[in-house]
Amino acid sequence: MKESFFEKKFDQYFLKDKNIAKKIVKNLSFQDYNTVVEIGPGLGILTRYLLLLCKKVFLIEIDENLIFFLKKNFSISKNQIIHQDFLKWNPEEINLNNFALIGNFPYGISSKILFHILKYNQYIPECIGMFQKEFVERILSHKGMGKYGILSVLVQSFYDVEYLFSVKKHVFYPIPNVKSAVISLKRKKLKILFNKDILFLCVKMAFNQRRKILKNALQYFKKIPNFYDIPFLNKRAEQLSIKEFLQLTKEIEIRK
Ligand code: SAH
Repeated sequence: MKESFFEKKFDQYFLKDKNIAKKIVKNLSFQDYNTVVEIGPGLGILTRYLLLLCKKVFLIEIDENLIFFLKKNFSISKNQIIHQDFLKWNPEEINLNNFALIGNFPYGISSKILFHILKYNQYIPECIGMFQKEFVERILSHKGMGKYGILSVLVQSFYDVEYLFSVKKHVFYPIPNVKSAVISLKRKKLKILFNKDILFLCVKMAFNQRRKILKNALQYFKKIPNFYDIPFLNKRAEQLSIKEFLQLTKEIEIRK
């Protein structure tokens, strides 16, 4: 296939190794759901195995040429092959409310993809995905680690994250400049008892001014009653564990 066929703007690096594709798909647990949505199926190397294993598959692909290719090559209902930017996709529009996500994701929009998953987390019990390895390390970081940041806290607040395996560069075409890794996100079983909007706001404000102690970084909340009694205010964002961020969120919520 000619190099010009690939759209750099859509981050297209196609997996060539079928065994790796199979290994990625096999990590889906299919627990409590029977629908899987694949983001960026490309030429369908993962899709092939997905169709063997699960009842209902939806494909979301941004590139019109690939949509044409997928419709021609896969016997799957046309309305399950969706030509759309995943970041603008709303599962409610097609009445999907319980499904897993899978993908060898376009790395350039990894953070945005995760934020989009978090936005609809109540519908998504599981996600298996390939990202840039460095990005995966950020998501898996804990307090005190240099890479600990907004996404580490937010993703781990809703999901148990597991590192599955690394993937070498030469199994892609074209060969990317970065290493890859596959992770699994499994939604936490516990009911979410914290306010999602406050958590997002808190975590973003705390890390956007990561050198300041929280008392100063969270000035937006300073007018709520007894603000200064909230615990952890003399710490900086990177010193707070995920559990403590959730506690902080509750402390703010009960005062509002
Ligand atoms: N899953 C395939 C392709 C991976 S490359 C494989 O493993 O070989 C990333 C894929 O994501 C490409 O097909 C690209 O066109 C698609 N893509 C890029 N941005 C997208 C977006 N915003 N929404 C949906 N698909 C996107």
